Order: sequence, then structure tokens, then C-alpha cells
Amino acid sequence: MSVRAVTGPAPVHPGAGGSIESLFASQRRSAMENRAKFTLKARLAMLSRLKATLKRRENDIIEALYADFRKPESEVRLTELFPVYQEISHARRHLRSWLRPHRVHGSLGMFGTAAEVRYQAKGVCLIISPWNYPVNLSFGPLVSALAAGNTAIIKPSELTPATSALIKDIAEETFPRDLVAVCEGDAQVSQALLDLPFDHIFFTGSPQVGKIVMAAAAKHLTSVTLELGGKSPTIVGSTANIEHAARKIVWGKFANNGQTCIAPDHVYVARDQAPALVDALRREIKRVYGQTDSQQKSGPDYCRIVNRRHFERLSALTDDATSRGATVLEGGVRDPGQNYFSPTILGGTTPQMAISQEEIFGPVLPVIEYDDISSVIDAINAGPKPLAIYIYSEDDSIREYIIERTSSGGVCVNNNVVHFLHPNLPFGGVNNSGIGTAHGFYGFKAFSHERAILRDKFSILGLLFPPYTTRVKQLIDLTVRILG
Ligand code: NAD
Repeated sequence: MSVRAVTGPAPVHPGAGGSIESLFASQRRSAMENRAKFTLKARLAMLSRLKATLKRRENDIIEALYADFRKPESEVRLTELFPVYQEISHARRHLRSWLRPHRVHGSLGMFGTAAEVRYQAKGVCLIISPWNYPVNLSFGPLVSALAAGNTAIIKPSELTPATSALIKDIAEETFPRDLVAVCEGDAQVSQALLDLPFDHIFFTGSPQVGKIVMAAAAKHLTSVTLELGGKSPTIVGSTANIEHAARKIVWGKFANNGQTCIAPDHVYVARDQAPALVDALRREIKRVYGQTDSQQKSGPDYCRIVNRRHFERLSALTDDATSRGATVLEGGVRDPGQNYFSPTILGGTTPQMAISQEEIFGPVLPVIEYDDISSVIDAINAGPKPLAIYIYSEDDSIREYIIERTSSGGVCVNNNVVHFLHPNLPFGGVNNSGIGTAHGFYGFKAFSHERAILRDKFSILGLLFPPYTTRVKQLIDLTVRILG
């Protein structure tokens, strides 16, 4: 969300154990030494140890996230802890088969050879995480990094200081620092880490900072996974079940106060369905968060904008829209003292407004009416490829029509956000919304080098070696003709 300019040398304090360079060197030694020692059994034990500490520290996690931005306990359980527990259980269940060398078939030309792909740890990995789901997005990638046999340094966000301090505490309680370490701090710390020749960088955050990370990685030709953001559109078609759609949209949009990378950013609705949808969204907001403004504000299930800067950013986006003709159809109540922004629906936004161009990342939902689905597809394709597209429709041909003509990291039909929780789906963006994928086997793969191993048993390729006599030339011609 925020790109901070960084100048001058970074005063980095990675905690006990000296400088950031010595921490990196110790992790590198351990990564080399442990190549053969990170057996399946050792990795399973590391994952179990992490789960045990997280379970033991659940109350501390709930308190820290409440202190940082009043995240409700149930949301912490469902969106911070559950995904990490699931990632651990899934990796524990499947790691044996992921680690098994994957035999591959040859071709006629490879007759007499045997070949396999082995997933080998990349080495020392850097995980940079954002503030919006700090536990989930620090420990989730760590599970994949450890399952793949790496060491890791985590740099959590400075915007959730209580949770970031706890993440460090949990890591130190569970692992030696040459296996897993946490460096707290802001962009300066991040950039000091990015100067080091990591073997892989797994970054979750904004596209703007993603570009800085990729440029830094290029200096060492370090591989990257970039889990970024953007504007994820929702389409409510003319055959959609409106009550059902409203229920899912309100949950997806207002959980975590809209500060979710895959939250529905804005809704396109078929014109004949628009009044019914806005009504259903209003009713659902009141049912879930409270009938009155004061009930909504004092309710336990609605968290806050993370800080004043983001509160003002959202206020400015909303004020810009209303000053240029948009109308508040629901909500719009704010209290800067608490960084409170009530669930808000806007009508009448236009593509020229800032709210239609920037990722909203907060509880403001523009609802845009359309007459022709092709205009929606054109609008989506005119912008950067989104992280997700959500389609509510009972008409399979329309759903396929939209899926085939657009591109995005993922798609949910008749739901939103939940694809994040599917253990067998790759999670990630495309171009501006991300590079590479996470979760389950895909996360394990992101942190592994796919190593090609070929064993020659009785290969006949030697018959084609020089000197190129007439006979060898004939054999080469035959090979190219028959096998090429
Ligand atoms: P951010 O990009 O501002 O910060 C992310 C991390 O990068 C933080 O740890 C921060 O300290 C560090 N950072 C900030 N500026 C830096 C710089 N100049 N150089 C190096 N490091 C720097 O993002 P955020 O505000 O923490 O998170 C919100 C963004 O993250 C949104 O765009 C959201 O969509 C995206 N996001 C994506 C996913 C996903 O899985 N795709 C998940 C959550 C959030």
C-alpha cells in the first residue's frame, strides 16, 4: 500500500545474535549443513513444533491482534490461525509423497536412461509479510519453507507492532535462530535484508513494493514469489441469487474491515438487479453488524482501520468520489479518533474517480450498474489483471463467457475469498497481482528447486558422437528425421 523512500545506511538490529549479515551467514551455514539432515522426519517434527507453539500462544495472538486493530477473536481464529493449522496438517499429510523423487518417462532418444525430478531446498529464504493478516501471512509461507527444507528469515510489518513482536517471540521459542529468525522493522530493515543474496524471496504486499522487491532480487538473480494486491471485481449477473450474493459479499468485503487482498473491491451488477442487490446488502450489513450506527460502532465483530494514515487515505478516496457525484447508499459514518469507518456502499462512481483506480483496501463498496456484460469485461481487461474475480450467476454459459475472456489470479463462482482456504488450489496473482503461487504443494514448490536428475544406463546417444563419419552422419539424419 505504501512505498517509503529509503535513504542512507540501514541501522539494522536483528535481535540477539549480532548483525543482519552474521544472522544470514549462520542461516547459510545451517542450510548447507542441513541439506542432508532435513529428513522427512525432521521436517515433520519442525511443523509439529510450530503448531504446538501456535496452539499454546493462541490467546496471546488474539490479544496482540486486538491491540493492533481490534480484530475480532472469531476472525483471528478463522482467518489467521485456521489457515496456518490447515497448511501444517496438509503438509504433514502429504510431505512424504512431495519429497519422493518424481520419476519421468523418457523419449525414444532417451532410451537407456532413467530420469527423475527431485525437490531440493533452495537454501536461505526471506519472507516479507504485510500487516493485514500478519500471523497467517508470516507463518503460512514459513510452513512451506520448512516443509521444503529451508531456513528462513521473516520480516513482518511495522504497522502491527504488537503482533510482529509476538511473531518474533513465537519463532524464537520454537526454533534456533539459524533455522528461523524474525527481523522486526520498517522499509529500511526490509531493504537491508533485500541487499543479501537470499536463495528465494517470498513477498506479500502491495504491487508498488513488489516492484522494489523484484528489482532488489534481480541483483542476485534470486527467485521470487510475489503475492500482491489490486482491485478484485465482483460481477452480479441478471440470474444471480441476490440474497445469497449479498450475504457472501458482505462477509468478503467487511471482514477485517475490508483490509483483505482478495476482498471484493467493487461490484458490477446487472441494471435490473441493482435495486434488489443494494437493498439486500443494506439488510445484510444491519443483520450482521447492527441495526443502528451506534450498534455497528460498538459491535464486537467489526475491526478498525489499521492506522490514521490508512483511515485518511480511505476518507480521501470516498470524499473525492462524493464530491464528483457519487452517493453514499449506506453507511459513511467515520470516527478518526478510533480509525472507525462504518460499512459503506457507494453508488454512481465513474472510472475517472480515484476510488475506481486505486485498490480500496477498506470497507467502502462501489456498486456499478451495467447493461451489457461485454462492457464489464472490457472494463476489467482495461486495468491490471486482478488477484481474483467473483461471479454470481445461475447461468453457466455466462460464467464461462466471463472466465474465458478475462484473466485473474483466481476465480470464485457464487462465493468470494474462500478459494484462499482450498488446500489443493494454487493461490496467487498474475502480473500486477502477483508472480508465483502459494499453499499446499504449490507453496512447497515455490520454496524448492526442481532438480533434474538423469542416470545413463545404456544410452545409445554415443553412436552420434564425432568424428562425424559418413555412418555417423547417416545416423544423425535418421535420428532427426524419425525422432525430431
Ligand atoms: P506494503 O507493500 O506496504 O508492505 C509489505 C511489507 O513490505 C511490509 O513488511 C513492509 O515493511 C515492507 N515494505 C514497505 N515498503 C518497503 C520498501 N520501500 N522496501 C522494502 N520493503 C518495504 O503492503 P501492506 O500495506 O503491508 O499490505 C497491503 C497490501 O498487500 C495490499 O496491496 C494487499 O492487497 C496486499 N496483500 C496481498 C496478499 C496476497 O496474498 N496476495 C495478502 C495480503 C495483502
